Amino acid sequence: MITKDFHIQYVEYSWEEFAMLPEHQLYEVAHQAAVQAYAPYSGFHVGAAIQLDDGRVFWASNQENKAYPSGICAERAVIYYVQANYPGQTIQKLLLVANHESLQTDEPVYPCGACRQVLVEAEERQKSPIEIWMTGKNRVHQVQSCSDLLPLKFIL
Ligand SMILES: [Zn+2]
Repeated sequence: MITKDFHIQYVEYSWEEFAMLPEHQLYEVAHQAAVQAYAPYSGFHVGAAIQLDDGRVFWASNQENKAYPSGICAERAVIYYVQANYPGQTIQKLLLVANHESLQTDEPVYPCGACRQVLVEAEERQKSPIEIWMTGKNRVHQVQSCSDLLPLKFIL
């Protein structure tokens, strides 16, 4: 038997540090998306913004449904939109923000397991990592690749 472990590195920014970075513009886009979320059941309004390597930006919000599994997270909504409409384009980064009852979460919001799997496969398809930025009022976390968030991904 061998016990193994993972080393996962992430960067933590204070909100003041983050506000000085170019990614703050992506936050503004994701925040507007979150405001437009359809989340009457959870009250958790999530916005996700994607930046392609050519600088174009796309966004989406979570869309819930009375039949819960029929809804979709903001991350998957935007990534499927980009993959369907801009196949072959390289996604450079994805930024997440969440509001609960109109207030931004204090702590960073992280992608759920299903979204992590989809993002990791997107990295495989484009053969390059996607930076993930997870924002909260108190701090912002960033990983260089979604694989850092899902080291033991599902493989066929
Ligand atoms: Zn998700």
